Amino acid sequence: MPPVALVATVVRKRELTPTVFELSFEVEPKIEFKAGQFISLIVPGAGPHGRDLRRAYSIASSPDVRPLQLCIKRVEGGPGTTFLDRLQVGSHFQAMGPYGDFIAKTPPERGMCFVSTGTGIAPFRSMLFSRALTLAAPARPMISLFGSRDETELLYVDEMNSVHGHRFIAALSRADEAKAKSNNAYRGRVTDYLKTHEKDFPATDWDFYLCGSSAMIEEVKAILTGFGFDKKQIHQEVYYKVKD
Ligand SMILES: Cc1cc2nc3c(=O)[nH]c(=O)nc-3n(C[C@H](O)[C@H](O)[C@H](O)COP(=O)(O)OP(=O)(O)OC[C@H]3O[C@@H](n4cnc5c(N)ncnc54)[C@H](O)[C@@H]3O)c2cc1C
Repeated sequence: MPPVALVATVVRKRELTPTVFELSFEVEPKIEFKAGQFISLIVPGAGPHGRDLRRAYSIASSPDVRPLQLCIKRVEGGPGTTFLDRLQVGSHFQAMGPYGDFIAKTPPERGMCFVSTGTGIAPFRSMLFSRALTLAAPARPMISLFGSRDETELLYVDEMNSVHGHRFIAALSRADEAKAKSNNAYRGRVTDYLKTHEKDFPATDWDFYLCGSSAMIEEVKAILTGFGFDKKQIHQEVYYKVKD
């Protein structure tokens, strides 16, 4: 559906990790969206000369359930996340949406691998719990490769592990071996995991969806093209740019 102006009412706030929280909210008018799309939040008066700012947030919940949910990383001093963090149950905010073309495009005979760091997991949670996606290809293999520094930053692990036919792999870059093992996680970065598991991903059989920082996305893309993946098999949503 084309984007519309939305008025949202917060119905729940939940801490997911020490730095990430989830907001559940109802919107008026009611909207339909595709898994992977985002809303553009209006941050009132936070811009230059008191102008409003806009910040994008992927819808983290399935298109089939309400309320809608966002999964937000607190950025110190960041106007968007500070505004969202101050909202309480009953608070209102304004947004535009839905937007975006970061949606499932893979033919049913190929698997989908979702690579994310941090809150980049949000669009994949929406996809994995989307009936349209799972009904279109019930036998499709799906893997999520989720990167964080350590076990305190893991997101949605139980939910991710509950999706039939889907494998969730957490890659912890700074946890020690014992902590990684006790969390059933791989010790290293998502890029290390891919480099050491090339055989698991024949280019004929998989598409990749990447979400998070530009640095992770560029590095993963370089690895995948090195494996022989065509650029058309790699889909991406950059949340923020990291300069080298
Ligand atoms: C299409 C799209 C969807 C997005 N969806 C989400 C989402 O679902 N959840 C979410 O938390 N963010 C998401 N973002 C990022 C979000 O739009 C904001 O950039 C972020 O919340 C910071 O906004 P701010 O105003 O608080 O801080 P700013 O002052 O705008 O940002 C300051 C710095 O924070 C860092 N940063 C920004 N986002 C993140 C992040 N997610 N994790 C770690 N560091 C970050 C960057 O270095 C950035 O330069 C998305 C971005 C895009 C483009």
